[in-house]
Amino acid sequence: MIQLSNIHKSFGKTEVLKGINMQVNKGDIISILGPSGSGKTTLLRCINFLEKANEGSIAIDDIALDVKHATKKDIVALRKKTAMVFQSYNLFQHKTVLQNITEGLVVVQKKSEKEAIEIAKTMLAKIGLEHKADAYPSALSGGQQQRVGIARALALNPEVILFDEPTSALDPELVGEVLDVIRKIAKEGITMIIVTHEMNFARDISNRIVFMDGGVVVEEGSPRDVFNNPKHDRTKQFLRRLT
Ligand code: ATP
Repeated sequence: MIQLSNIHKSFGKTEVLKGINMQVNKGDIISILGPSGSGKTTLLRCINFLEKANEGSIAIDDIALDVKHATKKDIVALRKKTAMVFQSYNLFQHKTVLQNITEGLVVVQKKSEKEAIEIAKTMLAKIGLEHKADAYPSALSGGQQQRVGIARALALNPEVILFDEPTSALDPELVGEVLDVIRKIAKEGITMIIVTHEMNFARDISNRIVFMDGGVVVEEGSPRDVFNNPKHDRTKQFLRRLT
């Protein structure tokens, strides 16, 4: 389980997160929606300390940290519970597809090379890219690179995968293949938090929608509640603008 309590984050004088509380249960698939600049990506990055929140506490599984007093060791331990899929894939360009996946398994998780390769191959089969194991990222399409980014996250067997707008850097014709891969792994019961602007996808895949605006959670509920019967004016306005 993941518990975020009273998360505040400012950049300079701008307060971007104004006290976020969120509980994520094992197996939850949560999509975070909201207008541009509402703090969605910042929240996601605060969960694994890519950004350090100014105040609040973050608990994942058996690790609970007050962000103000978290040591480097605490942060490393918490990060190991998460994996992130980035908007811009963030693959190592000088490593092959297979090496991109084995790197974290060997360096961070201290698995043997042999075991790491086995896991990587299983993940590549899952995303339909076994035949690209020895290719370099530059030889892949954006959609394929992002699928490798997803396989890399999945290989770490984390408590939660954090997806930061995983399709927003892609040409429209490549979005579908990435969403299909996320749909497929969602069925395996892995906990996911997804920041996305893909409304239909969010509605299909999530068991809970969190709507943020202006650094606060305005509303949350099942996709049916939030999409069909939004309670707050800000949610209504946001959804109206999309249709
Ligand atoms: P989008 O949907 O456009 O990605 P978002 O809801 O994910 O938006 P964030 O990316 O979290 O919003 O940004 C929230 C606010 O914080 C924005 O005003 C942004 O300019 C600001 N911000 C984000 N990161 C930084 C940073 N590293 N330094 C300064 N300001 C930042």
